[in-house]
Amino acid sequence: TYNANIHRGVHFLSQKGSQAYDEVRTKVKHLINANADNEIVFTRGTTEGINLVAHSYGKLFLKPGDQILISEMEHHSNIVPWQLLCENTGAVLKVIPINTNGEIIENEYHKLLTHAVKIISVVHVSNSLGTINPIKPMIVAARQMAPNAVVLVDAAQSIVHGKIDVQDLDADFLVFSSHKMCGPTGTGVLYGKHHLLERMQPYQGGGDMIKEVSFAGTSYNEVPFKFEAGTPNIADVIAFGAAIDFLNSLKLPLLYEHEIALARFSETELLKLPGVSIIGNAPNKAAVVSFVIEGINTLDVGMYLDTQGIAVRTGQHCTAPLMQKLCIDTTIRASFYFYNTFDEATAFVNAVAKAIKILRP
Ligand code: PLP
Repeated sequence: TYNANIHRGVHFLSQKGSQAYDEVRTKVKHLINANADNEIVFTRGTTEGINLVAHSYGKLFLKPGDQILISEMEHHSNIVPWQLLCENTGAVLKVIPINTNGEIIENEYHKLLTHAVKIISVVHVSNSLGTINPIKPMIVAARQMAPNAVVLVDAAQSIVHGKIDVQDLDADFLVFSSHKMCGPTGTGVLYGKHHLLERMQPYQGGGDMIKEVSFAGTSYNEVPFKFEAGTPNIADVIAFGAAIDFLNSLKLPLLYEHEIALARFSETELLKLPGVSIIGNAPNKAAVVSFVIEGINTLDVGMYLDTQGIAVRTGQHCTAPLMQKLCIDTTIRASFYFYNTFDEATAFVNAVAKAIKILRP
């Protein structure tokens, strides 16, 4: 009912839209305990946040021979932007190895921390394995042994499955998507420490990101507007704010416990079925259940579960290098959220048991 562009019109509808949009920045600030509203940049999602940092920080500050560290369990969106950056700058991508449980090997990580490392970009919770990485101690170690590095945390999976406090973590950048937290698709957040955002180049040029434009030259708007060129996704950002209000109205710590209990219950029951192996056995694990069944195609299981009204993801989960590392092609992945019930978890396990009976040659 107030569809108008923001930050430009003097009319009532534009003012109302601007206020609603900017209020969401404050909600996100509180959600992750950022220091100020201007540390919150709205993006299209996690992927755009990482690409923004690779472009606006990486292209400006990386030289040939500088190093970028990521882990073996990264989503493609936390691999490819860094490969592109390496192609553009001559920087070198180094990969932190994981063990067979799907945990980062602390020793190996420490060995990679040197003065040559300029960017460390690591997933907080693996979307394929559920592993919760020890991000806080990893950042502490980075500060000591790789003092020239900034640290980006991919919080796509962790933002709704535990409290995130960027100041406590001391993350330099943190990225996530609204659609993983009951909000709409196509919008998300890049958090960045103010002094870093200040020093970075704009990501795109256009309206709203400028202070003054002439053919002789252009000066840029202050952060975060410097990074939000053009008409943004106004309606979805406002809807994202409604999702944050909804989540804030729930007793989240209890719900985190509930979803973890559902996942662990499902794993225990699945392991009683013939040929099932759980992929990702880190002791500290989120509500993700990734598994394979000996002799049965994962896609076939996914299609059978769909006929039972159960939505799982099958495939490589945008983590092809992780699948290569674990010597598997694909997995079936169920992920639980606060609205799931034990009856649903039981129905899921029973449906997998049926799939095995039907599909086993
Ligand atoms: N990182 C992780 C861990 C993810 O799970 C996802 C999406 O599933 C992404 C990054 C990319 O998020 P988006 O597609 O919303 O940009």
